[in-house]
Amino acid sequence: MKANYGSYISISTVDWHGKAAIVLFLRGCPFRCPYCQNSEILTGSDLVEIKTLHDKIEGSIPFISSLVISGGEPLMQKDAVKELARFARKKGLLVGIHTNGFYPQVIEELLQGSLVDSFFLDIKASVNDPITYCKVIGCYEHSLALEPKEVIEKITKSLDLISRSDADLEVRTTVIPGLVGSKEDIAAIGQFLSPYLKDKDKPYVIQQGLPENAMSENLREIKPFTREELLEMAKAAYPFLHNVWIRTKEAGNERVDFELI
Ligand code: SF4
Repeated sequence: MKANYGSYISISTVDWHGKAAIVLFLRGCPFRCPYCQNSEILTGSDLVEIKTLHDKIEGSIPFISSLVISGGEPLMQKDAVKELARFARKKGLLVGIHTNGFYPQVIEELLQGSLVDSFFLDIKASVNDPITYCKVIGCYEHSLALEPKEVIEKITKSLDLISRSDADLEVRTTVIPGLVGSKEDIAAIGQFLSPYLKDKDKPYVIQQGLPENAMSENLREIKPFTREELLEMAKAAYPFLHNVWIRTKEAGNERVDFELI
């Protein structure tokens, strides 16, 4: 079996909060988010034998507790992801998947096979406004053949499947000026997520988008939101969600204590 390979990090402590992981980035993605930090692996082909990736995992095993499969969008490569997850399981590693939620049928198969311990799911904008969601994933700038309503349906299905399973779930929104990050955006996302996350106290993370490495040149000159601005966004989510985190370059991961802000 082959995988369309992007790159890897042999030991990461930031891709799965609280865990040391090897991160494998698989190539290809159906979206073109203007702030994407991995634009060099969204397209193209670098087919490698799966054994090559097994060897990378083996090489990190003394230092890690987990495998994170990221991208691009890793779930475009269902068979490779299943194989890597099975291999990691055999080696006693936890398995985490970073996903944009566009492949609920693959998520369902992974859950049926008990192959994943934690999903890290992007909710990129308010699902109440499919046109804006499609703008945030680059549909119009890149003339993607994606139907906005279908995108939202698939992502909602993914969220529903994961939230009803035994797997852990972290939902993330990347905020970037001019694209997504108003208090109204975050309140709408929080309200949508509430039935899926609140009762189970699953985390919602507001991530500081970093424009300097963005795929879209138009974004590269703008200033990122500050930590204080992310805290204000967190307040907008609070009526709907209580386990809210912010993730910034300057301070890393912080669970927001709403009694203090
Ligand atoms: S940020 Fe968007 S374009 Fe980049 S890998 Fe994730 S979903 Fe794909």
